[in-house]
Amino acid sequence: MTQNNAFRLDDRIAVVTGGGAGIGRGIAETFALAGARVIVADLDAAAAQLTADAITEAGGQAHAVAVDVSNEHEVIALFEQVIGQHGGLDVLVNNAAIFPKKPFLEVDTAFWDSLQAVNLRGTFLCLREAIRHMKAGKGGSIVNISSVSSMQAVVHHNGTYNATKAGVNSLTRTTALEFGPDGIRVNAVLPGGIPTPGARTASAAIELKGPIMGEGRIPLGGIGDVQDIANAALFLASPASRYITGQLLAVDGGFLVS
Ligand code: NAP
Repeated sequence: MTQNNAFRLDDRIAVVTGGGAGIGRGIAETFALAGARVIVADLDAAAAQLTADAITEAGGQAHAVAVDVSNEHEVIALFEQVIGQHGGLDVLVNNAAIFPKKPFLEVDTAFWDSLQAVNLRGTFLCLREAIRHMKAGKGGSIVNISSVSSMQAVVHHNGTYNATKAGVNSLTRTTALEFGPDGIRVNAVLPGGIPTPGARTASAAIELKGPIMGEGRIPLGGIGDVQDIANAALFLASPASRYITGQLLAVDGGFLVS
């Protein structure tokens, strides 16, 4: 029996946005364990550095970069820096997002725009810049972190966020179609409720225990964790999924089919 290396990312250059905390940190650490050189890009420079240090101390390769994904100049500079310092780009994970809630009738344009700016424009900007470089290089694989909330309302007062994630799904499919011929695959992971620093502050943890998103509605039982999402992202980033593009993979214990 020979070893199956299809799930490895040896010598791949991978950018993970929002890699300083929660799901992004789990993805960064998992990719590094699989052999990737990981660029941990986060608004919170100290958090990005902590993730990169943890990876390096464990024997992996990582670099921290401070970036606001909603800022066009910073995103352009991020990818130019990656190409300049590391010589290429193989994998992008669009993970950075914010998820404050507001009752629909209280949503003003400032609130609406703030979520669109990070979750949808940020994803668009990183996609555009990464694809530019991947197209000029050897192609690549992109994983967008969406949400089950893009498919079902799930919890109250989350409509602005849900709309951004539905947009992420649409971008996933349209870029997969357009850039497949360039050897660029684009897929999305749709996590169910996962305990993370962000989810806790957004009080999502309350809903994880509640009747709507509660454990009773999850066929596999119980709440998933960061590693469940990171494993799915690794599959979609790696050659193991080389014939898969444009897919929306829910990692939710079966929540969406319940
Ligand atoms: P998290 O714990 O809040 O971590 C997100 C990270 O992204 C933080 O380090 C945050 O920095 C950073 N970030 C925020 N805005 C940014 C920006 N403009 N530019 C760069 N980095 C930025 O969130 P999470 O729960 O791990 O969520 C990760 C992804 O999974 C998101 O796309 C989210 O929508 C999705 N998701 C999560 C769940 C869940 O239950 N946790 C469910 C479905 C989908 P700061 O701390 O400085 O803000």
